[in-house]
Amino acid sequence: MRVVVTGAAGFLGSHLCDRLVAAGFEVVGLDNLITGARGNLAHLAKHPAFRLVEHDVSRPIEIGGAVDAVFHFASPASPADYLKLPIQTLKVGSLGTHNALGLAKAKKARFVLASTSEVYGDPQVHPQPESYWGHVNPVGPRGVYDEAKRFAEAMAMAYHRVHGVDIRIVRIFNTYGPRMRPNDGRVVSNFIVQALTGKPITVYGDGSQTRSFCYVDDLIDGVMAAFERGDPAPINLGNPTEFTVRELADLVLRLTGSKSPVVFEPLPQDDPKQRRPDITRARDLLGWEPRVSLEEGLRRTIGYFRELLAA
Ligand code: UDP
Repeated sequence: MRVVVTGAAGFLGSHLCDRLVAAGFEVVGLDNLITGARGNLAHLAKHPAFRLVEHDVSRPIEIGGAVDAVFHFASPASPADYLKLPIQTLKVGSLGTHNALGLAKAKKARFVLASTSEVYGDPQVHPQPESYWGHVNPVGPRGVYDEAKRFAEAMAMAYHRVHGVDIRIVRIFNTYGPRMRPNDGRVVSNFIVQALTGKPITVYGDGSQTRSFCYVDDLIDGVMAAFERGDPAPINLGNPTEFTVRELADLVLRLTGSKSPVVFEPLPQDDPKQRRPDITRARDLLGWEPRVSLEEGLRRTIGYFRELLAA
C-alpha cells in the first residue's frame, strides 16, 4: 500500500510516518516546513519506502501513481504557532483539506483527517463526547484553528456523502512526546524546557484549567486503529485522565528535580477552562485506549529534551 502524509515533518506527522514505514507502507510525505522540520525525518531520509516532498498543501497536490490512503496532518497546531500564522492555519485547514480530499477522491484512497478537541472550543459539556457540537468563538484569536478544523470536518463529510470518499475524522486531544519543538509554545514542552534550563515555569492564569494529556505512541496507535477499522463519523482520540495545569507544573518539577520557581502569567484569550475526551466510542469501535500514564510519558519526553538540550 502507498500512502500520502501531509504535515509529514511535524510532531505527529513524523511519528505517523515512522509507524507506517514500519508497517510496510510506502510513504510520500508532504510538508512546507513552516512548523515541521526535516530533522524529524532524518532517520528515514535514505529509507527506500519513504520520500519527503517540500510542498505547501494549500496549493494543488499532484502525486503520480497509485495512492491507497491520504493522512491529512498538515497544520500549525500549537496555539503559539497558529496565533503567529493565522492565515496559513485557515488556508491549510480549508484549501489544504480540499486539495487533500481531491487527491483522495482522484486516487480512490481512504482519507484520514487530523481534527482536534478544539472543535469543542471552551466546552460547556464535560467530558466531551463526539455528539457535542462545541462552544467556539469564531472571531476570537483561536478561531483561526478551531474554525479551520470545523470546516475541514464538514468538507470531509461532504466528500464522503457526495463523492463516496471513505473518510476517518480523528479528534485529537492534547498530545505530547519526543519531537515537540523546544520553543513550540505548548504547555508540556514549555514546562519541561523551563524546568531543565532552570527558568521559571510559566503557568497561565491560576493554573486551575484542565487538560488531558496523551502520549504520542498511544495517539498513533489510535490513528492506525481508526484508519484500519474505524468508520466515517468523528472519533475522539486522547487520554481521559485529567490534570490541572498547576498539577502538571508540579509533576514536571518533581520528575526533573528542578528548582525552577512557578510564575503566573495572563491566561490567553478564550483558553478552554476544561478539556477531557469521552473515549467510549474509541473503546467500543476500535478497542483502543491509551496505556502510557502521564508520569511515564513525561519521563520519556524529559529524556528526549535532556538529550536535545545537551546536544
Ligand atoms: N499553558 C501554560 N503555560 C505555558 C503554556 C500553556 O499555563 O507555558 C496553559 C494554557 O494556557 C492552556 C494549557 O496550558 O490552559 C494547555 O496549553 P497548550 O498551549 O499546550 O494547548 P491547548 O490545550 O491550549 O491547545
